[in-house]
Amino acid sequence: MGEFRDLLRETAERVAGYRERLPELPVSSAHDVDELRAALGGSLPDRPRKPSEVLEQLAEAAEPGLVAIAGPRYFGFVNGGSLDAAVGADVLTAGWDQNAALPVMSPAAAMVEEVVGSWLKELLGLPGEASFGLVTGGQEANTVGLAAARHDVLARIGWDVEADGLVGAPPVRVVAGAERHVTIDRALRVLGLGARSVVEVPADANGALDVDRLDDELAGSPDRPTIVCLQAGNVNTGAVDDLARGCTTAHRHGAWVHVDGAFGLWASASPTTRPLVSGVEQADSWATDGHKWLNVPYDSGFVFCARPDAHRAATSFAADYLPPPEAGDLRAPFDYVLSASRRARGFAAWAALQQLGRLGVAELVDRCCRLARRFAVALGEADGFEVANDVVLNQVLVRFGDDDTTDRLIDSVQRDGTCWMGGTIWRGRRHMRISVSNWSTTEADVDRSVAALLAAARSLPV
Ligand SMILES: *Cc1c(COP(=O)(O)O)cnc(C)c1O
Repeated sequence: MGEFRDLLRETAERVAGYRERLPELPVSSAHDVDELRAALGGSLPDRPRKPSEVLEQLAEAAEPGLVAIAGPRYFGFVNGGSLDAAVGADVLTAGWDQNAALPVMSPAAAMVEEVVGSWLKELLGLPGEASFGLVTGGQEANTVGLAAARHDVLARIGWDVEADGLVGAPPVRVVAGAERHVTIDRALRVLGLGARSVVEVPADANGALDVDRLDDELAGSPDRPTIVCLQAGNVNTGAVDDLARGCTTAHRHGAWVHVDGAFGLWASASPTTRPLVSGVEQADSWATDGHKWLNVPYDSGFVFCARPDAHRAATSFAADYLPPPEAGDLRAPFDYVLSASRRARGFAAWAALQQLGRLGVAELVDRCCRLARRFAVALGEADGFEVANDVVLNQVLVRFGDDDTTDRLIDSVQRDGTCWMGGTIWRGRRHMRISVSNWSTTEADVDRSVAALLAAARSLPV
């Protein structure tokens, strides 16, 4: 046991050392693929090795290929950092090695999920009776929400999709904004509804769905089983659909409303941004992430459903060797997700929520939005830069000259390593995306990143 203790101590030292260096590490990885492959690859060893040697090699070999996503100047995708308490909880989770499928396997893991679910509903302004599943991320959350939707819209016209599948079923129409996230389409593919079942509603200049057009579309063919997908937080612009009007309109036409709020749903947690998502509680299902704005380590996502029966009908399961669903007071977490055996990822989410508290979450949301605006103001005033979106949340879209120049700027910034921003296509043109989602980012980090961007822009060959 002494050796294992030493192994953990050394591992903890390594983790602490990495995280201490993080703010000053080059954000991008200067890795060489062949070197990485050589360091981590080779043939599988025939004989067992000492755990300490294995970890030593892993750490040395992997570190050159790590990216400082957890650091304060990573602005790529919508990647959050990881809060200290949540990282610690994840270490405990690995050590405890609980299977969070069923309460009988881990009452503590099941309880923590129940608690996290109710805290989140309160924080995000969702109905207290909504069901909850702790999933791997936004993708799984969207898939589960849409599975519940599929169940409900077909059950209402007498079709049992869980028993009979979709072959021969009345077609389900999915109405979604043109700027929905691609995980909606993947969910529809795996659910058998098909990406082509989507009827696209045009979006406004900032990417929010046009509710008048939604109304026209729904009125055009009434009585069809219909799912409406609304979005809180466009991945490029941060735009939030008009959820109040969207829900009212969809419900007037008998549709189920699913809200993809992977990061934007967190607007609900701050009084400053809450008006952006007003009406969100009227939807029927919601998807959001823990590993984006809540800064829980990967992987962590949440799905909620206003109709727990539809949720359970879509995802619950039973077998002779499993306890019956209602055994004991604690719900079976695996009845609300797409996995059976599963990591006890509730501990990390619990720790993140405890570390921040209600005020801390609100402050984190406000601060990221403020820092995004700081970027927008500084770049908006800089020569040759153009801010392309209305910065309503934590996302900023920037152009620098034409497509090619913008791409060259992104490339140059990524190589420089002071900060990291990715690219995207918005309205047919290349843009740089800036997402401020990390708890440790400060004003100084924004200013330093702006300076790096301006320097990169100046040094671009014309
Ligand atoms: C990130 C994102 C998703 C997907 O979430 P993952 O956690 O990456 O699976 C879905 N929708 C939106 C709007 C997102 O920003």
